[in-house]
Amino acid sequence: MKVVVVGGGIVGASSAWQIAQRGHEVTLLEQFGPGHKNGASHGSSRIYRHGYADDYFVSLAARALPLWQELESMTDTALLELTGAVDHGDPVTVNPRIDALARAGLEFEVLEPAAAHMRWSGIRFDTTVLYHPAAGRLHADRSVAASVAAARLHGATVEYETPVREIVGTDVVTDVVTDSRTYSADVVVVAAGAWTSAIAPHLTLPPLVTTQEQPAHFVPLASEVKWPSFVHHPGAVLKTVGIYGLSSIDGVKIGEHGTGPVVHPDSRDFVPRPDGVQRLVDYAREWLPGVDADAAEPLTCLYTSTPDSNFAIERSGNTVVAAGFSGHAFKFAPAVGELVAHLVDG
Ligand SMILES: Cc1cc2nc3c(=O)[nH]c(=O)nc-3n(C[C@H](O)[C@H](O)[C@H](O)COP(=O)(O)OP(=O)(O)OC[C@H]3O[C@@H](n4cnc5c(N)ncnc54)[C@H](O)[C@@H]3O)c2cc1C
Repeated sequence: MKVVVVGGGIVGASSAWQIAQRGHEVTLLEQFGPGHKNGASHGSSRIYRHGYADDYFVSLAARALPLWQELESMTDTALLELTGAVDHGDPVTVNPRIDALARAGLEFEVLEPAAAHMRWSGIRFDTTVLYHPAAGRLHADRSVAASVAAARLHGATVEYETPVREIVGTDVVTDVVTDSRTYSADVVVVAAGAWTSAIAPHLTLPPLVTTQEQPAHFVPLASEVKWPSFVHHPGAVLKTVGIYGLSSIDGVKIGEHGTGPVVHPDSRDFVPRPDGVQRLVDYAREWLPGVDADAAEPLTCLYTSTPDSNFAIERSGNTVVAAGFSGHAFKFAPAVGELVAHLVDG
């Protein structure tokens, strides 16, 4: 089967890998160059974790783990470092995650805040602390590049600087129109992130809202301190919004989840809002004794969110769409690619 994948972020690249691995003739079309910073998948770090209350997401993370490891060995690239992950904060939010990890048979520990601080001295902990070791950080840019490389190893063609202008005909054979040529496909996969509704207006999707998010990196004060990936849930001691964080080669990254301004992906300004940066500085000063809170290096990135933060992965005619990843899909990407490949196969 001829399959065209529109979008070379982590979801399109993972899908191209998984579909090509099943023997299909895959062309991946990306409007920008390799490693571009205009979408959702760039940078040095993303959290990988199982810490969800919903069994489906726990199982999707579990499915992704061996696929990440397969990708590492196939491309001889280090992608995933298992540093462990911590959820802390309001027990109303943390306890269902403890229950879900128990149901899944995953290893975890529940600690008192003081015991957790003894172990991870860079973080001050709030109320209930859940730790699970099968978690950590992915290198984002390397993961996208490795997924593209895996697709190519299985025969995929990858075209950069090739914006898809139109998808024509959605029943039997579809034409995918670019400036230089038209590709004909048996199945088209739309993995276009914030641009999904623009390129696939024929699809019925949940409303997708694009926001410009702005995490920041902070310099750690001591290189020997260990950092798990962490999510601080609001409601108990923390009275502001929740915060996620992890260490990376660029420092300790923290961010609010989905609080950025609504933007259009082609006309956003890439400028972090000072009030949002100030909130991260205030958080670091209060909760992260292991970083220099005065030296924030903000960056921007896009979320494309559905109303309930669940994903839109579905098939309509011969179009498969994978969108609405709501700021939390990187960890699952190879497993999402596998779901997309199943939809391509019918
Ligand atoms: C700041 C930030 C932190 C995050 N942290 C985490 C985390 O810790 N853990 C986690 O699991 N997830 C995290 N996420 C979420 C995760 O990164 C995203 O869910 C994921 O990257 C979405 O990937 P995507 O491929 O759908 O979108 P994108 O990466 O945006 O890819 C879409 C691609 O489609 C291309 N495209 C669009 N239209 C066209 C067209 N017409 N023709 C050709 N190409 C086109 C775009 O150029 C783009 O490259 C974070 C996201 C952000 C922004």
